[in-house]
Amino acid sequence: MDNNSKKSAELISIGTELLLGNILNTNAKYISEKLSQMGIDVYYQTVVGDNPDRLERALELAKTRADIIITTGGLGPTYDDLTKETIARDFGKKLVMHEPTKEFIEAFFKKVKREMTPNNLKQAMMPENSVIFPNKVGMAPGCAVEDDFGKIAIMLPGPPREMTAMFEDSVMDYLAQFCDSIIASKTIYTAGIGESTLEDTLYDMMTTSTNPTIAPYAKEGECILRVTAKCKTKEEAERLIDEAIEKVKARVGEYIYGIDVGTIENAIVTLLKEKGLKAAFAESCTGGLISKRITDIPGASDVFDMGLVAYSNDVKIKVLGVDEAIIREHGAVSEECAVAMAKGIYKLSGADFGIGVTGVAGPGQSEEKPAGLVYIALWDGKEVKTRRMNVSRTTRGMVRLFAANYALDMLRRAAQAR
Ligand code: AMP
Ligand code: MG
Repeated sequence: MDNNSKKSAELISIGTELLLGNILNTNAKYISEKLSQMGIDVYYQTVVGDNPDRLERALELAKTRADIIITTGGLGPTYDDLTKETIARDFGKKLVMHEPTKEFIEAFFKKVKREMTPNNLKQAMMPENSVIFPNKVGMAPGCAVEDDFGKIAIMLPGPPREMTAMFEDSVMDYLAQFCDSIIASKTIYTAGIGESTLEDTLYDMMTTSTNPTIAPYAKEGECILRVTAKCKTKEEAERLIDEAIEKVKARVGEYIYGIDVGTIENAIVTLLKEKGLKAAFAESCTGGLISKRITDIPGASDVFDMGLVAYSNDVKIKVLGVDEAIIREHGAVSEECAVAMAKGIYKLSGADFGIGVTGVAGPGQSEEKPAGLVYIALWDGKEVKTRRMNVSRTTRGMVRLFAANYALDMLRRAAQAR
């Protein structure tokens, strides 16, 4: 195949459930986006059911109008998974046993002590002379084959988690041979700064920088910036990206909790671990959400011993030692109560930071305590920090999410300052 001319691709999404409208074709969206970033044109997307005749017709048509055909679905063990069989026949290839995959599947069943039904080995039958893409999330590997006329078929699994992992791990590298440039990107995660303020502060950089581009996208309750460069080599792209990140840091560094860290809880667990610190939470309106998010992260036990959901006033008083007078005079939703909760959990847990969260998740509210009003306090044994959050016009779920984000951001700042 002539690798220097620009290549085009067609996607064929395989699965009757797609035609029935049972599921959304997220695989096509994902792959098209990736290919466009890589400079590979996509002119057609096709969807076919689990039917070999119609798949064959779709393949024949795709070969007339694209250089690379990318399929998803139909690589599994069951009778209706026919992608490899159909493409191999169409491309004039035999299916042969891929020994490493066979061993992998057998070892898996041995490990989980389940009997392996013979159809599982179908997943290890691959077109001869194909490039194999390992599946780190599931069982069926993907592959790429080339026919005698230089047309390429890339077969990927249907489950989106498996497909995207495979795409990032190996398909992008495989496709790089057809691109004259590579795309790399890094993501800057911020917390505690609003989307409009962030955009205003970085407006000139966002609108004038073309390589790399700096683009915002909002994740629920957080602002994220994606810095993307297109260059001849990965090294060059990374250098451009890192330079841009330094410029962004110079302006909004205090709000950045990490680069490519995924989530704030991830960044916090890493940070606390590095510093040998622990945190504990006394949660009222967040109902354990903060503790849940911290314990979602593997290795959380190094930095977290306890969290307490203190929902009723009684528990705040009896378990956390909040003075009854505070609740009587200021209410349970007050800065004073948040501070007392933070101090209470600090004492109970023996952690380095105690965090108290109390607020009105809504939708019910009173005149002076509107839904979305939340007080957060952090006590480190010497100094108390508090934050008042007031998000309006939003749902119960959003209030809790924002409150958890605020609390985690306070913890991140306190831990960083140590
Ligand atoms: P398959 O490999 O064809 O058995 O697909 C396994 C599962 O992956 C299906 O039941 C769907 O839930 C999911 N899936 C398959 N194709 C797609 C697609 N194009 N977009 C999103 N999900 C898909
Ligand atoms: Mg299927």
